[in-house]
Amino acid sequence: MKLVETKCAACKSSIFVYEDFLREDMYCTLHCMESANSGNVMVKESAALISANMA
Ligand SMILES: [Zn+2]
Repeated sequence: MKLVETKCAACKSSIFVYEDFLREDMYCTLHCMESANSGNVMVKESAALISANMA
């Protein structure tokens, strides 16, 4: 899979995600995700992906 660059939807920091998992709204940290949304299934998927990238 190929990594692509996108921007955090909250703070606009550059983040890298696999293109197959790219969403409209991506977040660099859980804090950014929580500050922008709450209880959204798509956001939870994005958070799991970001955690995997940081591991
Ligand atoms: Zn952010």
